[in-house]
Amino acid sequence: MQSYYKNFECKKCGDCCKGYGGTYINDYDAEQIASYIGINIKNFKENYCQVSCGKLIISQGESGYCIFWNKNLCSIHPVKPRMCKEWPFIKSLNIDPDNWNIMAEMCPGMESKK
Ligand code: SF4
Ligand code: SF4
Repeated sequence: MQSYYKNFECKKCGDCCKGYGGTYINDYDAEQIASYIGINIKNFKENYCQVSCGKLIISQGESGYCIFWNKNLCSIHPVKPRMCKEWPFIKSLNIDPDNWNIMAEMCPGMESKK
């Protein structure tokens, strides 16, 4: 697999915490976040999440940002979901330069591949 690691440097703009179709979470993510903010998993899923395309995502606030985006920082940084930790080094972007370039138009930290 070709690596694009050298084509990324996060600008800390927060754009990936706004929109992009939602932040998907798995059960492990949900358990970690619920524990971190001190609530039970049922409360977390009911009050901090919504369902998109049959999958659980973190809710967005009225601003359009993830509800855990606060004062230009991720307020759950130590336990943020896997997709947030790995972005943009996820398989679908690393195996297909077209996918990488589409996302690079939205993420200023990603350098397009010509
Ligand atoms: S959109 Fe890209 S550059 Fe901006 S914070 Fe997210 S990963 Fe970093
Ligand atoms: S969990 Fe943190 S890094 Fe992930 S979208 Fe929300 S604010 Fe951004």
